[in-house]
Amino acid sequence: MQMDDRQKELLRQLPKIDEIILLLEQKKVFERAPREIVVNTCRSAVGELREAILKSKKGGKGFVAPSLDQVAEAVTRKVENLHRPSLRRVVNATGIVLHTNLGRAPLCEEALHRVMDVSRGYSNLEYDLEKGKRGLRYDHVSKILCDLTGAEDALVVNNNAAAVLLVLNTLAAGKEAVISRGELIEIGGEFRIPEVMEKSGAILREVGTTNRTHLSDYEKAIGEKTGLLLKVHTSNFLIMGFTEEVQLPELAALGRKRGIPVMSDLGSGCLIETEKFGLKKEPTVQETLKTGVDVVTFSGDKLLGGPQAGIILGRRETLERVKKNPLNRALRIDKMTLAALEATMRLYLHEGEALTGIRGLRVLTEPLEEVERRAKKLLRLLKKAKIEGLTLSLKKGNSMAGGGSLPTQEIPSVLLSLRSSKLSANAVEQRLRQFDTPIIARIAEEEVLFDLRTIDTEELDIIRHALEGLARP
Ligand SMILES: *Cc1c(COP(=O)(O)O)cnc(C)c1O
Repeated sequence: MQMDDRQKELLRQLPKIDEIILLLEQKKVFERAPREIVVNTCRSAVGELREAILKSKKGGKGFVAPSLDQVAEAVTRKVENLHRPSLRRVVNATGIVLHTNLGRAPLCEEALHRVMDVSRGYSNLEYDLEKGKRGLRYDHVSKILCDLTGAEDALVVNNNAAAVLLVLNTLAAGKEAVISRGELIEIGGEFRIPEVMEKSGAILREVGTTNRTHLSDYEKAIGEKTGLLLKVHTSNFLIMGFTEEVQLPELAALGRKRGIPVMSDLGSGCLIETEKFGLKKEPTVQETLKTGVDVVTFSGDKLLGGPQAGIILGRRETLERVKKNPLNRALRIDKMTLAALEATMRLYLHEGEALTGIRGLRVLTEPLEEVERRAKKLLRLLKKAKIEGLTLSLKKGNSMAGGGSLPTQEIPSVLLSLRSSKLSANAVEQRLRQFDTPIIARIAEEEVLFDLRTIDTEELDIIRHALEGLARP
């Protein structure tokens, strides 16, 4: 790239690294982080300025080289930022209840207490207190999982993707796993059934068509090489119109007749009857097991409302094989997750407690009037704060379950709409993300929208505080 005189002059004016370091030493910035990190931060700050000058068009016209003080200030800010946690709580104002990017299911209080109690010191993670010898880590949750679902045995791994990988690898490596073409799904991110299957060593054997698959399609595909019949819950979309799929009871019966294990990847892991709460039906774990399938897998942090985990339930003999797979060791769950999962599952001993204690379930089943009450409260709070330049109103809207649960369900909700006289909706949305407790909101047609279904009462003040901050220059 050809530099002109103006650019050369700007580069000359940039503060020297040594000068910045000297100033930072006087300001005691070196006490805040190891010397090497501070020096590297200086270098990259100056490096970025150089880049900006070199890239600037028309010889950097309008570009003012920052002073030594300004650069030192910027470096100090970056060093201070090292002390600020990167992984932080946020306010989820999106209305997507199980938002994968926002950590999916919030944990219940009991889970948090158990995590602290178990992880602060030592625990009986792999120690059988009765026998006084080595135990199995998943024994802490397998009994309660079996009691609640009717499964014969249970195993828990890192997440549901790991659960699917592990089961496929155990039952179908080097063999064919038969699956309907309509179920070769992508969950989002990197999880695509055909790719997971390939990594597991199972050979994909597609049957049927995208919209219709019959029992005879499975029957015809079964042969010497068949290791598994797999059914995947199409958890994030719906095929409508001229469709047909084989139901699990028929598939389980076919598997039994031909001596081939049948697996159901449920995805969400719902233990409650969603239709009791005016929601669409989400297949429950209990009824899926009752169909006679050999193994069921689902996530811990979707509708179940617990920590990230992959839960594998099913027949004892099948799970024995899965437990012996060496891959299990690589996918294993840690003690904090186990503590949280155990506490979450205990809430299900009493459905009422699960519905109030697990925030995801509470929010999904909360009557609209409650959401509306919270919306009015927020509106009152904001009006009382007399924040300048904001136009506020309430409007009807819809929340979504997210997290591969209830894919087409629109859950009625109340939204607070905000317009600023000074800032565009995009600018407001961006500023809201930059507060100490960031607020993640939606935008529609130049309005910033806060969905009150996913906002907790104790978060209303955080929003007021942020909007007051927004009004300040
Ligand atoms: C979500 C989902 C997965 C992946 O589960 P993770 O817990 O995100 O690893 C796999 N299968 C189905 C059907 C799902 O819905």
